[in-house]
Amino acid sequence: MRRNRKVKILATLGPASSEEETIARLHAAGADVFRINMSHADHELMRTLVERIRNVERRAGRPIGILADLQGPKLRVGTFANRSVALQVGQEFTLDDDSSPGDATRVHLPHPEILAAVEPGHRLLIDDGRLQLEALSNDGKAIRCRVIAGNAISDRKGVSLPDTELPLGALTEKDRRDLDAVLATGVDWIALSFIQRPQDLAEVRKVARGRAALMAKIEKPQAVKRLNEILELSDGLMVARGDLGVEMPLEAVPGIQKQITRACRRAGKPVVVATQMLESMISAPVPTRAEVSDVATAVFEGADAIMLSAESAAGQYPVEAVATMNAIAREVERDPNYHDVINAQRTPPEPTGADAISLAARQIAETLNLSAIITYTSSGTTGLRAARERPRVPIIALSPVVETARRLSLVWGTHCVVSEDANDLDDMVDRACRIAYEEQFAKPGDRVIITAGVPLRTPGATNMLRIAYIGSDGLGGL
Ligand code: PGA
Ligand code: MN
Repeated sequence: MRRNRKVKILATLGPASSEEETIARLHAAGADVFRINMSHADHELMRTLVERIRNVERRAGRPIGILADLQGPKLRVGTFANRSVALQVGQEFTLDDDSSPGDATRVHLPHPEILAAVEPGHRLLIDDGRLQLEALSNDGKAIRCRVIAGNAISDRKGVSLPDTELPLGALTEKDRRDLDAVLATGVDWIALSFIQRPQDLAEVRKVARGRAALMAKIEKPQAVKRLNEILELSDGLMVARGDLGVEMPLEAVPGIQKQITRACRRAGKPVVVATQMLESMISAPVPTRAEVSDVATAVFEGADAIMLSAESAAGQYPVEAVATMNAIAREVERDPNYHDVINAQRTPPEPTGADAISLAARQIAETLNLSAIITYTSSGTTGLRAARERPRVPIIALSPVVETARRLSLVWGTHCVVSEDANDLDDMVDRACRIAYEEQFAKPGDRVIITAGVPLRTPGATNMLRIAYIGSDGLGGL
């Protein structure tokens, strides 16, 4: 089964999409990677979902990526005597270390690290920003605030602190347990929520020891400020527009989306655009015009993947939402302006063999109108560098390592196939041609271009480019 688009689709699983048959339908409709949200899934459910996705993968005969999303340090206020209280703009309201139930003047804030870090003038955004407080004073036990906007607060609402750098690591105790569990189960990507600093990545990398690729979710202003350092230590980024839109002015989010997407394209690391892409499809079978335009914008910009959250996890139309994304992506990629927009963002190669060969492969494939670029990639690096070129023709990434193929399933333009290493040069050409033929990327008489590092399995040693004809038997020939 081949897709007729470059951008990938990431679908979040949840109550609306936990059954194996539903997962199979989502995959058939176009989902390339599935996300398991550890804020909502316990370990048993996570393991069940992984098992079901692997069954779907086996049935479809195509590698499927799994991304486990760790909750991160999500901060909340305590509870109230009567569950909620009304507030007025201009009044004072205090958040403190007293665990007794709250009232119209105060509530417990069960996070000593916030009490230690907030300074006068800092904003505290409660309930996705519906209530805005400004700190007037803080003695380390109680933060006295003024209500700037909003009119109510209730039990366990979330707290965002856009102005405060919190002395929190990337992982809570729950995250550590979840991380161990997802690594032991075997997932391909781990997403880290509320990353603030590059060190946060380093900490997780030590635990992961290469068993999964790491995606930093950019959803705090502190992370936007240090984007390049964070990108350097990540394997990919997510534009997490939900929390980003709470912690920063909403009107700043589209510009930041472009900034993050371009930084990732320059680095040759995958970028996911997430949250509310087809939000209205939670309860309607068709999206709004604005949502279609939003998805199209991400595709035009050359994002690696577009994501569904509640639309596929908890909505009434999960399969329709994936099919809608698929249809929008295909139409955009056929648009006459698409390649111009993609080309305008292209960045020059870095001075490495892999980049020089990826650039040459793209140019040759486009000049000679070849059917595909086929790259032998065991670690995935050469596949990533080929994708960084954003070629017009499909990239077929051949890897003997199933984990590599699964990780690359998130990456723009790559069709991954698990294939044993070739024995010699002839075998390499035959194998590449046969797979291009069998996977319906080329017909007898078509030509393809093959890149590899010879000898095979030497990481980073891409040094070969070869043009080959697909023979009448589907093998390579003249
Ligand atoms: P979440 O992350 O869905 O886990 O909150 C995505 C976002 O914040 O946009
Ligand atoms: Mn988030």
